[in-house]
Formats: sequence, structure tokens, C-alpha cells
Amino acid sequence: EAFLTRIQLTDAQIGAYITLCEEPALNSADAADARLAAGNAAALTGIPLALKDIFVTAGTRTTCASRILDNFIPPYDGTAVRRLREQGAVLLGKLNMDEFAMGSSNENSAFGTVRNPWNQACVPGGSSGGSAAAVAARQAVATLGTDTGGSIRQPASHCGVVGLKPTYGRVSRYGVIAYASSLDQVGPLTRDVEDCAIMLGAVAGYDPADSTSVNLPVPDYQAALRQGIKGLRIGLPREYFIEGLDKDIRQCVDKAIATLRELGAEPVEVSLPHTEYAVACYYLIATAEASSNLARYDGVRYGRRVDEGRGLIDMYMQSRAAGFGPEVKRRIMLGTYALSSGYYDAYYLKAQKVRTLIRQDFLDAFHQVDVILTPVAPTPAFRIGEKTADPLQMYLSDIFTIPVNLAGTCGISVPCGFSRNGLPIGMQLVGRPFDEATILKTAHAYE
Ligand code: GLN
Repeated sequence: EAFLTRIQLTDAQIGAYITLCEEPALNSADAADARLAAGNAAALTGIPLALKDIFVTAGTRTTCASRILDNFIPPYDGTAVRRLREQGAVLLGKLNMDEFAMGSSNENSAFGTVRNPWNQACVPGGSSGGSAAAVAARQAVATLGTDTGGSIRQPASHCGVVGLKPTYGRVSRYGVIAYASSLDQVGPLTRDVEDCAIMLGAVAGYDPADSTSVNLPVPDYQAALRQGIKGLRIGLPREYFIEGLDKDIRQCVDKAIATLRELGAEPVEVSLPHTEYAVACYYLIATAEASSNLARYDGVRYGRRVDEGRGLIDMYMQSRAAGFGPEVKRRIMLGTYALSSGYYDAYYLKAQKVRTLIRQDFLDAFHQVDVILTPVAPTPAFRIGEKTADPLQMYLSDIFTIPVNLAGTCGISVPCGFSRNGLPIGMQLVGRPFDEATILKTAHAYE
């Protein structure tokens, strides 16, 4: 009830929720009370959480912030959602995002812009902007987001919360609306690192319904937090600490490095030589996969249909023209072009090769260090409208997060200070594949 009141009081300004599930939330809170009284509570029993509107939820509208899905009520829960429910979580509602998770500012939503709780003239970041803003504005204890090129870590950084992108394969993508399937991962946004460890533990693990989920044991992440970081080697990639990096970001990150050194870690310079190709490589692979994934929205099986009665092809075209927003259309065109015959080898295949080199950079660096530390974003949260006219500028907001998705490994964004004008700044800790425990314990020692 306290969270529902808080949402009512603040969400007219913030705009984090697309759908509020008042009745079902109160009912599952009652069920949680009963479970607590019976003495069989699980890790999340009675904890009020909310979900990016990309997670399909049985009986609750799931829009992906797109007009093309504004009437879509899924018949099933995805695996991460089912796991949260099984542990007794109370699901408050579905959160705003960039349409189909394409964006870095939450301005590409058919349901309005989300405002940064720290300064409402600024963006919360994206695409999981609602998920970050809801935690920052205390409208949920924790939330789930997805991260294809930075969509958990970048908004977490802009809103002053913790956000973790697990290793590709760590969390099931079953029931998560696909953007770029070889990059998408599910992860938590939370107030602190301990909550993050609890949330990851709740959703991680093998799922036969997702052929890319990996059958590895899930460590006790909370226990890992107590291990300390004496002797831990922290790599500082020279390609990330460049001229032109925002001064406030540089200062906060430098201070965090000094703190980690005092805590017993050993900073070491490393090199990730293919960094400069990451954004170009990402925007070929992500758009190619998106153009294929989004072919399913044809107005036939579910979602919006516009049919003026001039035949099947015309119905597809009208439905897609009316249903998709401008950024989604841009990406479908870019991706279709990159995959088309005659261009496939030059663009898509080449990008896949570059991706392998980027992954290899990280694996090589992890022979020398246990964790890699970088900024999360090149600037603090920017003003609403500042970058909407220039998609390329917007694409560059993810320059430090995208390589981690291409490498398929894990990264966490942890608050590490404020800019001079009072906006939160995060640092990124990148870990070896499936070694979320080490980035969590490092983040926890720092925090
Ligand atoms: N901003 C990046 C993009 O638009 C990343 C989005 C994401 O991680 N979902 O593709």
C-alpha cells in the first residue's frame, strides 16, 4: 500500500509506469502475509517489485512501449517473471522504456518520456529508463530491466542506482520480447549491491525453454559479497580513459579507483585495442537481428491491426506503418539493408568477425586482471530533447557499455558520485564470463 501511494504521488511527474497492477499486487501481498505467517517465506516474499514492459506477464498487458502491442495481453509468464512470483514477490506493474528497447533516453516510447527523478528536465537514460527511475523515486524496491547495449547499466548510472547486466546465458530470455537475440540479457536494478545480489540469485539459472541459457551452477551471490577484495587486480582500459571524457565523470571514477586501492585492490593499465569499432559493429548486429525479430509483428497473430481492406500485403504495411515508431522503423531499415543479398558479407559477416576480436580483447585482458573498471556513460544524464534530432549522437551514449554485450560478459553499474550540477554518476565493473560474483563483491566493498 505504501508503494502504491508513493506511485500515485510521484508518477504524474516521473512517468515510470505504463501499467499499474493495483488489485493483483494487493492480492499477492495478502498471499505473502499468509506465507510469512505459515513460516515458509522465500527470498522475495512480500517484496514489491516492478518489471520493464518487455517481460511478458500472464493476463497483464505487455506493450514493449509500442503502439503495435498496445492491446497485447500475453497468455503466459516468462521464466524470470515466474521465478519472481514463485518466490512471493509482489508485482506492482509494468514500466516505461524505449520502444522495443531501442534507445538510450526513454524518449522513444509510445507512452511518453520518463523524467529523471534527480532533475526532471533530464532523461533517466534508456532503454530501461522506467526501471531505473522507479527505483530512484522509491516507486518499487527493485526492478528488472534488459540490456542489449547498455540499457540496464546506463539508466542505472543516470539515476543513481545499481544495475547489473549478467553474462549472456546466465538468465533465461524466455518470455522477454526479443530485440537483438544474441545480445539481450535480463538483469536487476536496485538501490544497493546486496539487493542486486538477491535479485540476480532469484532469476539466474538454466532454463530448458531458452536454448541459449547456460547450465552452470548459480553461486550464492550474497555469500560472495563478504569475501573482500584484497589483492584483486583491477584493469583500467586505456581506450576508455580518453581526452574528451566529461570532467566530472573522470573525477568521480578516479576517486573510486583510489578508494578501491585503499581497500586492497591493485589497479593495472590494460588495453582493449578493438574498442573503437564497437559502436559500429553493434549497430550492424543489433539492427540486423532486430529487423528479423520484428518481422513477427504483422497484424495477424496479435497486436495492432490496421486493415482498410486492400489485401494481405497492404494490411501488413498499414499495421506496421501505424504501429512502429520512427526509431524502430529506422532500425528495421538499417538491419534489412545490412542483411540483404550482396551486402551481407560486407556488413553483417564483417561485423560478426569484429565482434569476435572485441570478445578476444576482453578474454586477453582477463588473463591479467580479475575485473575491468570503466565509466558507464561519457556524460551524466542529458536534457530531454537534447539528442533526439541526432540519432548518431544518441548511439554514442552507449560507447562504454556496448563492448560488454558484444563480448557476452557481465557488467555492473555502481553509483560513484555526482556531477557539479547534482546528477548521479556511475562506474562500470566488468567481470569474466559467468563471474558475476566478483563484480558484485567489488561493487559491495566499494559501496
Ligand atoms: N541504446 C542502445 C540501443 O539503442 C542499447 C539499448 C539496449 O541495451 N536495449 O540499441
